[in-house]
Amino acid sequence: MDVKRFGVVGGGTMGNGIAHVAAQTGFAVTLCEVDEALCAKALATIGKNLQRGVDKGKMTADEKAAILARIAPTTKLEDLAGCDIVVEAVVENFEVKRKVFQTLDGVCGPGTVLASNTSSISITKLAATTRRPGKVIGMHFMNPVPVMQLVEVIRGIATDQDVLDGVMALSKAMGKVPVEVNDYPGFVSNRVLMPMINEAVYCLMEGVGTPEAIDTVMKLGMNHPMGPLTLADLIGLDTCLFILNVLHEGLGDPKYRPCPLLIKMVDAGFLGRKTGRGFYKY
Ligand code: NAD
Repeated sequence: MDVKRFGVVGGGTMGNGIAHVAAQTGFAVTLCEVDEALCAKALATIGKNLQRGVDKGKMTADEKAAILARIAPTTKLEDLAGCDIVVEAVVENFEVKRKVFQTLDGVCGPGTVLASNTSSISITKLAATTRRPGKVIGMHFMNPVPVMQLVEVIRGIATDQDVLDGVMALSKAMGKVPVEVNDYPGFVSNRVLMPMINEAVYCLMEGVGTPEAIDTVMKLGMNHPMGPLTLADLIGLDTCLFILNVLHEGLGDPKYRPCPLLIKMVDAGFLGRKTGRGFYKY
């Protein structure tokens, strides 16, 4: 896969990081957001994150300016027509993603690879909404994208081998470590992470330990950089619940049932850091 033009749809938490790394790699990036204010916000975030590199002496102000100049913002998906690959990073909602994929399928040339950064939505199902299922793949970057090494590359049932090989090579060119996985609910990352978080919530609900005790056991005992309840607060408890439901429904195994305490916290609007209250207060 020969990538010169790199498209990104969605300039939020993940999308601006993906655009940042793609532009830093040297690609001409087109970044699509819903309106001009959000385009400006995404570019400002990228500028701020690049400035950290300048302040630490890792890049010059000229290099920062050159990277930013490679990113063209737009509010029209049609402007992604000439891209060799488009990575979709809009909200985690199948209907919203379906519309983006079908529009891109209509406007992009037949050779364009369409990738999704989804955490849990089936790549196979997204691919089936297009006329190019062989060219649809998962490219699951981790947050924060400029810092985290992993890209989980998800092969849908119809993904072509050359597309898989191309995206593995592209991820390496972007300085990442790609790992190939097959398309099953939660892939590997969330299939393993979310049951651990859920079990930590059960421990809390059953009074096995306080949040601090549970997190400290996992931090100091298992060498995790942060405890599972702290991590859940960071990810967002609504997101954790959503992914657990995907695992529960998709795999049909009661072992994935979300803990009632997690459901109660989401019902209360205690979603973690973003609402100022989750398992901890912020
Ligand atoms: P976010 O809410 O921060 O950003 C989503 C952005 O998409 C918003 O800025 C929104 O305006 C924009 N958007 C929505 N519809 C659009 C459209 N039709 N065209 C263009 N832009 C549109 O969300 P996020 O956290 O960046 O998550 C994006 C995707 O990445 C989701 O699928 C999520 O599951 C996945 N993901 C998130 C994380 C994480 O830690 N946040 C980690 C890995 C994967």
